Amino acid sequence: MVLFHLFFSYTKGMKPIRTRFAPSPTGFLHVGGIRTALFAWLLARQNGGQFVLRFEDTDRKREVEGARDHLMLSLHTLGLDYDEGPDIGGPYAPYVQSERLASYQKWAEQLVAAGRAYADPYSSEEVQAFREQAQHAKQPFLYRNHRPDNPPVWDGTQPLRLRSDPKPYQWHDAVMGDLSTGPEVIDDFILIKSDGYPTYNFAHIIDDQEMAITHIIRGQEFIASVPNYLNLYEALGLAAPVMATVPHILAPAGNKKLSKRDGSKDVLDYVREGFMPDALVNFIASLGWNDGSEQEIFSRDELIQKFSLDRVQRSGARFDEQRLLWMNGAWIRQLGLDELYRLTDKPEFWPLDTPTEYDNRGYKTQVLALIQERLKYFAELPGLTPYFFTDLPVDETLISTHKQLKKFSPAELKIMLEQSRASLEQSDFSPTNLQNRLNDLLEQTGQKPAILFSLIRIASTQAPASPGLADTLAVLGKERSLRRIDAQLAALAAV
Ligand code: GLU
Repeated sequence: MVLFHLFFSYTKGMKPIRTRFAPSPTGFLHVGGIRTALFAWLLARQNGGQFVLRFEDTDRKREVEGARDHLMLSLHTLGLDYDEGPDIGGPYAPYVQSERLASYQKWAEQLVAAGRAYADPYSSEEVQAFREQAQHAKQPFLYRNHRPDNPPVWDGTQPLRLRSDPKPYQWHDAVMGDLSTGPEVIDDFILIKSDGYPTYNFAHIIDDQEMAITHIIRGQEFIASVPNYLNLYEALGLAAPVMATVPHILAPAGNKKLSKRDGSKDVLDYVREGFMPDALVNFIASLGWNDGSEQEIFSRDELIQKFSLDRVQRSGARFDEQRLLWMNGAWIRQLGLDELYRLTDKPEFWPLDTPTEYDNRGYKTQVLALIQERLKYFAELPGLTPYFFTDLPVDETLISTHKQLKKFSPAELKIMLEQSRASLEQSDFSPTNLQNRLNDLLEQTGQKPAILFSLIRIASTQAPASPGLADTLAVLGKERSLRRIDAQLAALAAV
């Protein structure tokens, strides 16, 4: 497949597609970051190209310890494998900006020699004063209005700035379409800071060039800077890669950008809570992309086949955690029981005090078979299954707050439950036999399932809801079911 694609792209006379994910190691990876990585990965995979990981660590103050490992682990966990990167190397190593300073220096000197970059002689206080002057005059601040006539020789201790060439731009963004700006947005931005490190604005352009990147996929926060990047590409004599700007991810309600409070959490936390990587990938792909059909569940291979930049939407994509829950549930329902068991075989997904007699694969698989239908993520399991592992004390509020059952007196309920017990006692507790007996009981008592089955369910589980009653009783077994019904009967007698 890969070979075919390679052959295909070469025969079309195109450069093989190379995309990159270029996070700064400043924290964990949330859905927005993963989405950028995912779109870049999909584009590379569907074209037999390469997907590159690069760390943009030139803002030393913002670096967070452990973030690099965390970022790599997040990509591995979601199956977004990269072909070249800081830990595995590659033909364009190193893939870490702080190790590429010599490259930036070389290109910077070239710009200086060509008269397209100069040392900034001002102190930051002076620049701040220019900014305030502009504010005062209600003018946008442009550094180039203060460009020095005779800048000092750049000795590496001053910031190095681009000598920009202000002009209008028109360009095509693979997602946002045709865009244009006037000369007023072009300015002399900093290429190399006074600490010797390049800015993102400079470094990413050099890296993308040296790493032969063909497509830049990044968030909307960079789009306003693109005209300045285009100005720099020209000064460097380079052709810009294809640019694709993905829309913001919006909070579930309202029209603001997603923040941590709205569920913009670490994707690894989702995985820890029992969200499936495939479901997360499916969900994240759908934040701003669809294939034009009604299909919502996509396998990874389908995403690779169907993804395209021109179907990425321009407007913000709403982050809806309910939809993620639904989608993960749909992925869980597709699992075979063996696989479901394997994925949930962790102490944190089972009730804490699971007694040894029920702590075995066979029994847990029976429980999983019943719960699979309603399970949205694995960490829900202990809350949904305690009664399969322990006799919960009789909870009288389950009856007193039940819409139907609260209309009956304890004596009436006791008669109903005694009648049920007598029939169940005769059962071999196979699901079929239980179902037949339950149906017979409906006829005998003249009650509706919402009444009779609720009563038996509450008695045998002490939970407000459970999977199908006959199946649940079958898994609980005769002894436990009758014991629990007896406890309920005793409680009804005591009222
Ligand atoms: N280092 C930038 C960030 O973390 C990457 C932007 C880009 O993809 O070019 O936001």
